[in-house]
Amino acid sequence: MKIIGAETILVSVPFEAGGIPPWSFGGDPKCAFDTLFVRLETDSGLVGWGEAFSRNEDTALKSLIDTRVLPLVVGREAAEIARIKFDLEFELQNFGRVGPIVYGISAVDTALWDIRGKACGEPLVNLLGGPFAGELEVYASLLRYGNVDDVVRITRQAVERGYRYIKLHEITMPEIAAACEAAGGDAVVMLDTNCPWSVEEALRYDAELAPLGLYWLEEPVWPPENYRGLARVRATGRHRIAAGENAGSLYDFVAMVDAGAIDIAQPDVAKTGGVTELLKIAAFCDAASIEYVPHCALFGPGQVATLHLNAAHRSTPMLERLYCDFEAELYGGATLPVDGRLKVPQGPGLGLEPDPAVIERYRVA
Ligand SMILES: [Mg+2]
Repeated sequence: MKIIGAETILVSVPFEAGGIPPWSFGGDPKCAFDTLFVRLETDSGLVGWGEAFSRNEDTALKSLIDTRVLPLVVGREAAEIARIKFDLEFELQNFGRVGPIVYGISAVDTALWDIRGKACGEPLVNLLGGPFAGELEVYASLLRYGNVDDVVRITRQAVERGYRYIKLHEITMPEIAAACEAAGGDAVVMLDTNCPWSVEEALRYDAELAPLGLYWLEEPVWPPENYRGLARVRATGRHRIAAGENAGSLYDFVAMVDAGAIDIAQPDVAKTGGVTELLKIAAFCDAASIEYVPHCALFGPGQVATLHLNAAHRSTPMLERLYCDFEAELYGGATLPVDGRLKVPQGPGLGLEPDPAVIERYRVA
């Protein structure tokens, strides 16, 4: 079964988040999230879908994947997932081991697993060893609102929608404390700060945050690869430290663990090498006694793949989902949590196909 076609499709769907426009990601803040699909087609007629991390209608990223990654995939044998991934990484090693090239390789890998599952007539989770759970807890990963009123209102809304775990992205004490109080005993709260602080600043926050009883503290230190800095914060023992969404491969997690930087590893299937790499990272985490909770700020095939991966791991990690309501659903609502939980699709491969009408309407490139 040969790959005869490979293309990217960049979609950007507007959402309602109940607050001010969130992160800018280096562009104009916008209430819309990208899904950058990689679509692989085989000579048997099977089609596989993967996802590369993207923000702000990233046509440059799309072009990079189109021109550097996908030409190396066409003509290959679709069953050779690990070999294709290795060849892409080896041939493109000079263009980055973290970032856009790896995002493209991640998407190809996930699409190949989708094809594999469809060829076998089995859901992806079965190919990964089978499920430990048929549905997963989902945590509401709130956006950053930067004011007490919005974060309190939206925290309550998430609780009322049935979420039992909520992650904040606030970076100032009044908002963090107010949200924790608003969650009350109804939801467990995590804090993700996205690398804002020096080690000294992070240590001050680490002490100040301690009475709030956060479930974990995520990426408190700049830059993301400052593993020694993270280790210094972790050494206080006041918080369990989570990180890894900015890693490129298994080896970054080995370095984090060697540094004593993390309690919780958060690889992202659309940034860290796809399904194949996450399986390696999961096995490493098990052996190193590190908790494995994949990062997922995705809404396309990456989110669906993460569902399968999480269900196939013995700890059945919670699925992360950014808390926003989209104008249109890529999967007709099948990826919308109900009462804070989401079922693992049972169809072959990823088990869900994106809605062509939604793709057509929101396609930007
Ligand atoms: Mg994060």
